[in-house]
Order: sequence, then C-alpha cells, then structure tokens
Amino acid sequence: MNANVLVVDDSLTVRMNLTDMLSAVDLPVVACASVAEAKAALASDQFSLVILDVLLPDGDGIELLKDIRAKPSTAGTAVMLLSTEAEVRDRVRGLKTGADEYVGKPYDVGYIIARARELATQRDSVTPAQETILIIDDSVTFRETLKAALADESYRVLTAASGEAGLRMAATLHPTALIVDGELPGIDGATVIRHIRLDAALRGLPCLLLTGSEERDAEMRALDAGADAFVRKDQDITVILARLSAMLRSAAGRVLKQPTASLQGPKKILAVDDSETYLQQIAEALRADGYEMVLARSGEEALELLAVQPVDCILLDLMMPGMGGREACKRIKSAQVMRDIPIVMLTAVEDRDAMIQGLSAGADDYIAKSSDLDLLRARVLAQIRRKQFQDENRLIREHLLRREKEEAEKHNQVLEARAAELKRSNEDLQQFANIAAHDLQEPLRTISSFTQLLAQRYKGKLGADADEFIAYAVDGAQRMQLLIQGVLAYCRVGTTEKDFQEISSETALQQAVTNLYGAIGASGAEVTHDPLPAVIADNVQLSQLFQNLVGNAIKYCSAAPPRIHVSARKSGECEWIFSVRDNGIGIEPRYFEKIFLMFQRLHGRTEFSGTGIGLTVCKKIVERHNGRIWVESEAEKGSTFYFALPLRR
Ligand code: ADP
Repeated sequence: MNANVLVVDDSLTVRMNLTDMLSAVDLPVVACASVAEAKAALASDQFSLVILDVLLPDGDGIELLKDIRAKPSTAGTAVMLLSTEAEVRDRVRGLKTGADEYVGKPYDVGYIIARARELATQRDSVTPAQETILIIDDSVTFRETLKAALADESYRVLTAASGEAGLRMAATLHPTALIVDGELPGIDGATVIRHIRLDAALRGLPCLLLTGSEERDAEMRALDAGADAFVRKDQDITVILARLSAMLRSAAGRVLKQPTASLQGPKKILAVDDSETYLQQIAEALRADGYEMVLARSGEEALELLAVQPVDCILLDLMMPGMGGREACKRIKSAQVMRDIPIVMLTAVEDRDAMIQGLSAGADDYIAKSSDLDLLRARVLAQIRRKQFQDENRLIREHLLRREKEEAEKHNQVLEARAAELKRSNEDLQQFANIAAHDLQEPLRTISSFTQLLAQRYKGKLGADADEFIAYAVDGAQRMQLLIQGVLAYCRVGTTEKDFQEISSETALQQAVTNLYGAIGASGAEVTHDPLPAVIADNVQLSQLFQNLVGNAIKYCSAAPPRIHVSARKSGECEWIFSVRDNGIGIEPRYFEKIFLMFQRLHGRTEFSGTGIGLTVCKKIVERHNGRIWVESEAEKGSTFYFALPLRR
C-alpha cells in the first residue's frame, strides 16, 4: 500500500539518482534537500521508508531520526542513513538511535535499491499496538516506570520479578519481545536469554538485555548470551524505547524475508585494517561487486560497529595497533549473535605462522595481502555462500522443530478434546443410570408388589389360568429388577473416579465371601485360598470381581457341594495372575468368549437364575485396571477363571 519513500539529501545528484532508481522499481519518491523540508513532508504524508543524509545544511540527520522515532505517527517508519563512510562515530550513533540501515557514501545503487525494497515492505507489518512486551526486573519502581512508558507507546506489557517467573510467562504467553535486567536475584538476565535461545519455540524471541556497567565486557557478555540488543540501565528510558522499536523492526524483517535470502541479495562487508590505502583498495574492488562496504580502522572500532549492525562477512587485518585481528576475531567468535559471520583474516605476507595464528583464533579463512584482489573477491564470495548454506540449514532445522512442536500440540489438543468428550458421555451415562435407578425402578416396584399381592390374595379364586399368568407377571417383574440392577452395576464400573491404591487382595476376597454368606451356607460351599498379594487396585471393584466369580462358582455347581479355591502367582516382572477354580458343571470351550458378553447365558432361567451381566461386569473391572480375564474349563470337570493385574499402574 503506502510504499512511499522520502529521500532527504542536500546533493541534487543523489536526490535525482535515487528518485530515478527507486521509481523504476515502483517505489514512489518524495525528495527534500533539508531538515525543515523533510519535517514538513513527514507531517503531511505517510512514508514507509526515509533515506536520510546525516549532514544537512540546516541540521543533523540523526537528530531528525530521533524526532521520527519519538513521534507515534512515524515511530514505525524504516530509516536508512546515508553518510560518508569515514564517519564511524556517526554510524554507531545513527544505528543506536534506531536507524534500520546505515549506508556509506559512495554507495552502491543496487544495494540501496535492494535494501530499500526490503525495508519499505516490512514496515506495514509492524504496528506497535499489537506488540506484547515482557519486562523481567526485580525492581518494582523500574518495572512500573518502564511499563508506563511502554503503555504510552501502545505496547501491551507483561511483567515478572524474577528470571524463573519470566521464563514461565514467556513459554505460556508468547510475548513479542523481552526486556530483561542483567542482574536478578535468581538466574541472571544473560541466563534467561540463553534458556530462551535453547527453546525451539522461543528461540526467535527478540531479547533486549539491560546492562549495569559501562564496560565493554558487559556488552560482550550481553551479545554472547544471545541478546539482540542491550542498553545500559542508567540511560534514559527513551533510549530503551528506541532500541526496542529498532529490534522489533529488524525482527519483523527476519520473519518477512525469504528463509534463504538470494545470493544476489544485498550483502554488507566489514573491512578492518589500519592501512587506509589498503582499506580503500579492497573497498573499491568489492564495491564493484555490489557489496555495501563498512570500513573500520581498528579492532575496537570493528567491535563497536558490529554491536549495532550485523554484516555478512568480515575482512580482518591480523596486525593492527591496539586490539589486533587475533583478539578481535576471538571476541567476535565467542559472541553468540556474531559467531556465524564468516571472518577472512588478512595477513601481511604468505606466512605459515600468521596463517595458523589467524585460523586458531577462529577465522574461517585467511588471505595474504599481497595476493591479487580477484582472489580476495573469490574468497569473500565463497565465505558468503558457505554462510548462506549454514543459515539455510539452521532455518530448515528451526522450521522442522517448530512444526514438530506445533503438531505435537495439535495432537495433544485432539486427545484432550476426545478425553473431554469421553468424560461428557460418561457423565451422560451416569445421569442415565441414575434416571434408570430412580424413575424406572419405582414403577417397577409398584408392579412387582401389586402382582405379588394379587398372587397372595386371589390364588385359587380366579381360575388356574389366572394363577399361572399372575405368576409369570411376578417373575417378569423380579427379573426386570435384577436386569436393571445389573446394568446399573455395569455402568457404575466406568463412571466412578478411579481410586487405585495398594490394597490387600486377600481382604477384598474376604469381603466378597462375607457378602456371599447366605449362598455359601445354603449350598454347603467351601471357599479356600493361598496367601494372596497386595495389588494396586480399586478395593470396591476388586471385591465385586471376586464376588461375581465366587458367586458363579457356587451357582453353577454339579451334584457335589461346591469346592472353590483362589490363588495368585507372579508372571514375569509385570503382572499377578489370579485364579478362581471350582468343581462345578464346567463350560464347553466354544463358549469361552461368549460368556463375557452382555446378556449371554448358557442355561435357561429355570435351570440357573441369572441375567448374563455378571461376567461382563468382571471384564470391565479388569480392563479398567489394564488387565485381562479368561477362562479354562471342560464340561463336567469344573472351571478356572483367571484374571491378570499389572504389578504397577
Ligand atoms: P449369569 O450368571 O447371570 O448368567 P454371568 O455373566 O455371570 O451371568 O455368566 C454368563 C454365563 O457363563 C452363565 O450364564 C453361565 O452359563 C456361564 N458361567 C459363568 N460362570 C460359570 C462357572 N463358574 N461355571 C460354569 N458356567 C459358568
């Protein structure tokens, strides 16, 4: 939509050149020659990108940049500063003030156009109103002050008083960016950022570290931990805001860009050498290849530049006064955010020792300064290509990790939804069971008691047929009562909360035997058992299981009085196998499975009473305990029912 570019430069040549080139790639340009004109244009029009000269006749471009960042209407606008490459201080100041790009003059038009297109299109995706910032700081005063300042800029703000709490918040609430104090009571700010960088889902979170001291080491430590930016805590809060918005803009760029930027895309090279002549020589050669060149005259300057501006490749002189190439190389390679930038070490001569020194400090390649510049250009291209592959691999890995995590989350959501659905239908079933218990049983009891009354009072008075019919009705009502109770018992097994704990199976058996007291007495049955183990189970259900099995063993007896024996043995290291053996009528093998199905009976009601539900309930109880149940038997030779329960839950 609004992809207009404002060019502010006092040189007519630059203005005309940029206007022509940018218009040719569909970026309409408004050109101004001074700060005053630019301010007027900014007040009346919306721009996606401002290309700003640092030195203007009526003021300083960097001051204008501060103005742009301070006003909510323009705070999100991308800014590219243009300046003569000699002014390293300005470059650092400009980037620290929140410039998205700093290009040295003479510039490469191809580079400017490519960057302008990137910056102009990424602007619309950053609307501060949607950003959520997480502040981690143990000082309430600082937290609240920063929170108020951020809220004024329309950010949503979350706060945490410790690193641990902050990490938990980041994991659950997914903020857009993080501001963390370096010094915290528990884990410190650098450790918080390290944790974030190790988490596939949070790895991309832009992090700003607040450092306490002014020493360079604090900054190095911040970068080493993986911070995207750092601000000294004693600096004005507007500096924090400016760094934050710059960080968010470049993060939005990261997301928008193609996963692997084309090799032909804009590339920036930092050349570091104390010899001005050599520096200009390589700058000229590489500019001809379309690279944007950033020049530094010492290791210190190089580090200062790198702290505010990432580059694609570094050419580093080994021998320099002050911080030499070796030390600078070590520092760059030990800082997490910079360590992937390829470094080509420049050595004075084709010297084996110098080469070893350079490579052992972490350089990716080295080249003798005496070599021709074509070789240097080839080496630079090779390094950039290598980094590209590396980036590509990393992005693919990150993408896969993220996808895996998303899929696992989706899968969990489906499982949770199903579990909830199951719970709901179990509750429905429970409700139905209650309705059945109360509403169906009540009229049934009425039918049952009145038919019984009818049988008692009018037996022999209504004729033989009537007596027979009334007897059927009495029997039918009683059977229906038993069936309803059976179905209710079956439903209850699944709907009660699981109450598994270590219990004595012997006690559960004794409980069952006590409940069967009447049947045992009437049949003259004898129930014996071996010592039985402790198991992890639901006490009520285990005793119900024994009661059904022993009850059947008593019921399905042959002529001899029932002899029932219960025992248990361990099978491997994973389960107990219980057995309930009887000397009853036995079961033909073809019915072994059928008898565990609902309402399946092998005998008529006149032979043996029953509903065909008891074993179905047994099966459900055992399966609820993750176990199995089966029978071994032969007709007329007694039966043994087995059930296995896992040793552990
Ligand atoms: P019910 O006893 O109410 O008929 P069950 O589900 O408990 O219902 O048993 C299903 C069928 O399995 C019974 O009808 C019976 O034929 C057979 N059965 C169960 N236990 C035994 C046993 N111990 N001996 C012989 N047959 C049995």
